[in-house]
Amino acid sequence: MDVVPAGNINRWKYPPFDAHSDEEFIYARGTLDDKGNLFTMMEALKEYLNVYGQPLRTFYVALTHDEEVGKSGAMGIAHYLSQQPFGHNGQFEFILDEGTIILEEAFPTLKNPIAIIGVAEKGSIYIEYRIEVAPGHSSMPSASTAIGILARAVDKLESTLQPSQFGRGPELSLFHGVTPYLKFPLRLVMSNIWLFGPVIQWVLSRKPGTDALQRTSTAVTLISGGEKENILPTSASATVNHRIHTADSCRKILENNRRIINDDRLVSHIKSCSEPSPISPYGKHIYAYRILEETIRQTFENDHHHPIIVVSGLMLGGTDSRSYTNLSKNLYRFSPFVYHHNDLNRLHGDNERIRHSDMQRGLNFYFHLILNNQLENIPETKLNSEL
Ligand SMILES: [Zn+2]
Repeated sequence: MDVVPAGNINRWKYPPFDAHSDEEFIYARGTLDDKGNLFTMMEALKEYLNVYGQPLRTFYVALTHDEEVGKSGAMGIAHYLSQQPFGHNGQFEFILDEGTIILEEAFPTLKNPIAIIGVAEKGSIYIEYRIEVAPGHSSMPSASTAIGILARAVDKLESTLQPSQFGRGPELSLFHGVTPYLKFPLRLVMSNIWLFGPVIQWVLSRKPGTDALQRTSTAVTLISGGEKENILPTSASATVNHRIHTADSCRKILENNRRIINDDRLVSHIKSCSEPSPISPYGKHIYAYRILEETIRQTFENDHHHPIIVVSGLMLGGTDSRSYTNLSKNLYRFSPFVYHHNDLNRLHGDNERIRHSDMQRGLNFYFHLILNNQLENIPETKLNSEL
């Protein structure tokens, strides 16, 4: 499995590919994303085979070489699995990919950790905007050059947010799940979303991480124009990347942008587009979802004063699971690791690390997931059995 590059090595506390281990953590690129999942999953399988032997139900472990940069690996696996006995017509009971995590200190006053099962993921579109104008000499410039026109369009795209879709995607069930555990007055606000919707939207919009939950995001990622310092530029182009909320679509975003830019001289070209995923079924009546939910409780329920809250939510990044939609309609995204407030910045960032205790619990999670899948009835009691 691949990882993203380490970036500026000087900013790392330890060399990023040495897997330096101290009392509490292992530091290395890929510890959280995605080798933590990989190792705990493989260890759990080994442990399961040692303890119980061959499971009654069939599992496939799908690991790919280009999880971060492409999807040829996942598509190859999807093709192979579709030839298998359960692969026809989406008959796999469920698919679990890397994904959303367990958050601590997510809301003010909330002591309970929140485990989020990603039931959908955002789409992604890359659009190039290009402008071509007649050539001219820089001593007699016309009112707007290609670069000027393009710059104004970029400014409009950045300063005009795509509309909030709060309440139209899986983020709403996250808020419903958390509300009973909140203290007044936050609880009052959250339990009356119909009334306080605009307030919640405003609160979410104050941080990029929470704002991304409620709308399609916009990032201008490339820009180029001009050939020589004394020649008026005849063309300029910029590429913008939107991560698409489940209530939006590629077409809708293209249309929104046309209105925002409001300048017919710019020509748009879609470089690539993948629509947001469908929303997988979730709730007590879905067997696969309940197995996941109960396994999370079994593994992470260690503080009875502040029980773990398990909710469904939206995954902001893309996962391989988007290639597996033909195998099952129950696609879930979850990584069994606890994140503290600054851990999210370590993903694709500096000093990525994982707690030793999280490795143990991750292993425990996958072990119990296999075990629970052998049972006729899902246990209602909360066990916290260590290996
Ligand atoms: Zn990644």
